[in-house]
Amino acid sequence: MEYADILKTIEQEIKQQKLTGKVANYIPELAKVDPNAFGMHVLCNDGSHFGFGEQHTPFSIQSISKVFMLTLAFKYLEEQEIFKRVGVEPSGDPFNSLIQLEQEKGIPRNPFINAGALVICDILLEVCGNPQAELVKMIQRMADIDKVPINQDVFDSEMKCSQRNQALINFMKSFGNIKHEINEVLTLYTHFCAIELTCAELAGSFTVYAKNGKLSDGTQLITASQTKRINALMQTCGFYDEAGEFSYRIGLPGKSGVGGGIAAVHPNELSVTVWSPPLNKKGNSELGMYALERFTTLSGVSVF
Ligand code: GLN
Repeated sequence: MEYADILKTIEQEIKQQKLTGKVANYIPELAKVDPNAFGMHVLCNDGSHFGFGEQHTPFSIQSISKVFMLTLAFKYLEEQEIFKRVGVEPSGDPFNSLIQLEQEKGIPRNPFINAGALVICDILLEVCGNPQAELVKMIQRMADIDKVPINQDVFDSEMKCSQRNQALINFMKSFGNIKHEINEVLTLYTHFCAIELTCAELAGSFTVYAKNGKLSDGTQLITASQTKRINALMQTCGFYDEAGEFSYRIGLPGKSGVGGGIAAVHPNELSVTVWSPPLNKKGNSELGMYALERFTTLSGVSVF
């Protein structure tokens, strides 16, 4: 089956799906999004692309930005330096959990849970002159776009209710694994979470992970080995305590966010993104998971 036909089939099927998921409302601004919005975009490494629905509507990428944060850190530091302060094991816990940190002495399990991404932000504050501007510029290059907006209302809204992230930073600081001021780390992290991209733009940026670290103009952004590491982490840790389920049902490295987006790649083949705001109990897009499962089933494009 051709990709265009596969997407047509998925477009029909998702209309029949009964949703039980709920739009994230712990960040009040995110609750304002249209729960019926749905977009999907597939970008093949040869440049051909397919999509439907609200594939060109910007949405809050939230935790998908954790992949970009690690990518930027890789541009500055050897992996041994990074992975002294954060692990590479799945957590099996919710994204904002504090539970493992006490036993593991303030070293988060991986960079794709909140605690791990907060450590990466602390590292970026140390190694980059202006991490926020550099991350935005990097995404612009990755997706070949002019603008990467940060939604100020989403940022303000999350800053007002980020007691848990503050607690994570504070707790890790007590173990010496955060060097900057709590508010500085929190502000950077929350700005990154408030980045908005469309499905098409997100797929554009994720082709780097499908192309062994190369940008569309052939320039090497990160090394092939670093890309392999990022993809491995997405595969094992990209969906928190649903990483196993995502591997089982979809079989691609990927990353989700509570804005309802999911970005996934098949190395050497393609990137694929979906956006549907209602989340399942584990905080991943319910319909997004369904659409991606159908995509890999109908196309046979899975790493397994
Ligand atoms: N900004 C959100 C938070 O820190 C990101 C969580 C997510 O997308 N899973 O809670």
